[in-house]
Amino acid sequence: MAVRSGSEYLRDLDRTKREIWIGGRRVGQRITDHPAFSGIAKSMAALYDMQTDPGIAEEMTFISPESGERTGMSFLRPRRKGDLERRRRMIKRWADYSSGFLGRTPDYLNSDIMAMASAWKFFAQGGREYGENIKAFFAHVRDNDLLMTHTLINPQANRSLPASSQDDPFLAARIVEKRRDGVVVRGARMLATFPMADEIIVFPSTVIKSGKEDMPYAMAFALPVGTKGLKFLCRESLSHPSRFDHPMSHSFDEQDAVVIFDDVLVPKERIFLLEDPERANALHEATDAVVHMSHQVAVRDSSKTEFFLGLLSSIAETIGIEQFQHVQEKIAKVIMVLETMRSLVIASESEARLNRWGVLTPEFRYLNVARNIYPRLYPSIRETVQQLGASGLMSLPTEGDMQSDVRDYIDRYYVARNAGAEERIRLFRLAWDVAGSSFGSRQELYERFFFGDPVRMAGALYNWYDKEPYKQRIREMLHEW
Ligand SMILES: Cc1cc2nc3c(=O)[nH]c(=O)nc-3n(C[C@H](O)[C@H](O)[C@H](O)COP(=O)(O)OP(=O)(O)OC[C@H]3O[C@@H](n4cnc5c(N)ncnc54)[C@H](O)[C@@H]3O)c2cc1C
Repeated sequence: MAVRSGSEYLRDLDRTKREIWIGGRRVGQRITDHPAFSGIAKSMAALYDMQTDPGIAEEMTFISPESGERTGMSFLRPRRKGDLERRRRMIKRWADYSSGFLGRTPDYLNSDIMAMASAWKFFAQGGREYGENIKAFFAHVRDNDLLMTHTLINPQANRSLPASSQDDPFLAARIVEKRRDGVVVRGARMLATFPMADEIIVFPSTVIKSGKEDMPYAMAFALPVGTKGLKFLCRESLSHPSRFDHPMSHSFDEQDAVVIFDDVLVPKERIFLLEDPERANALHEATDAVVHMSHQVAVRDSSKTEFFLGLLSSIAETIGIEQFQHVQEKIAKVIMVLETMRSLVIASESEARLNRWGVLTPEFRYLNVARNIYPRLYPSIRETVQQLGASGLMSLPTEGDMQSDVRDYIDRYYVARNAGAEERIRLFRLAWDVAGSSFGSRQELYERFFFGDPVRMAGALYNWYDKEPYKQRIREMLHEW
């Protein structure tokens, strides 16, 4: 089997015995029946079904030269012109399903692992077996169409000290014992979005660099989520039973969990890097995984911005505020964000080059800007919904109200210039869910932080970017004048 259908994903989800805790209770065997997970599980199944839909299967899949089977497009190793566009079309279609509100569509981490496995020689430099392990893991995930979650960050106990200097040396997940058959890991990591995955990958952070003292914390490995001792402690659910009341959080609360390793054995064939701070620091850049992940993220951001452009334009039209200049200016800013994100993606593809591992890699300069700029722009897009929606965001009868004796009043008093009451209410409930609800707040926090601390990401951009030609120009000007 190379491509999973939605029902196969749901079957596997229920079959895997994983330890997920939410609201003080361990989730029972049928996670797909749990109110916190049933909506998102169906959404993920719908994404998998796109791969087997005859109308779009060509776009979502390719025939893998390794297995000869139809395989998810996000596993495609881009090698020739056109491959990045094929990947982009697949990413966009999956992103459009949730209007970009799902961060953990499978393509995000599939892109990561695709790039890492292509750079297997990088891992082999730390030990020949590590190169073989990452290749085998990629083949396993690709050929079984598995879904991954990941965790990169140590617990936020005392950020003024590295993991090794915290009061409890086993606060952050680290190696506690080395055995012939693998290593035992104890401690915690935060956060792993989407614990309803099949596998968890535990990698170093993209921006936080380790020193020599962090040896026991510098590791990269992958495990099935059902591995003994692995525990996921979920945050409060933001999922709601009524799609009318909460159109987005009903289906797209992907959950975030703290991951606890209670003396978890990582088998030796699942280890990719061990006690190697230098390689841990270099990992994401040296493999170009960060570039392919940024490509996926920028396409998803475009989809999300398209959604907001549609939403804001609809609000303006519905309540008759289109003609006001500040309204036009605010919506024009969203158009600018959208076209900027699209342009950065296209530019990165048009200057793509084969990297040293033989993978056609988008130009990172553009994508590095994309991943830095969107966390700064997204909060203002959300704010615009609040500015234009105003009290309309608080005049929101629920599904229950709509079926009650006050319905006649609602039909009479909730009308808008260009919509009947129900249509207007549906539009504004959608707006509230993305701009005001807990789901909307979590989305903003996600966009700000999920790819790393924006401050340190900007610092990384500053240090990485070649500013010398521009400084030289200034020097020349100073001498010419
Ligand atoms: C909704 C959501 C989902 C996420 N999903 C995942 C996931 O699936 N997998 C995963 O691995 N991670 C995930 N993350 C975590 C994400 O990687 C981190 O939020 C991010 O790397 C920042 O780390 P932190 O949250 O620990 O913030 P901290 O590092 O604790 O920073 C807190 C504040 O202190 C400042 N600060 C701290 N240290 C420094 C420093 N040395 N220099 C300058 N400023 C500093 C920061 O700028 C920030 O303002 C998720 C986060 C969110 C919010």
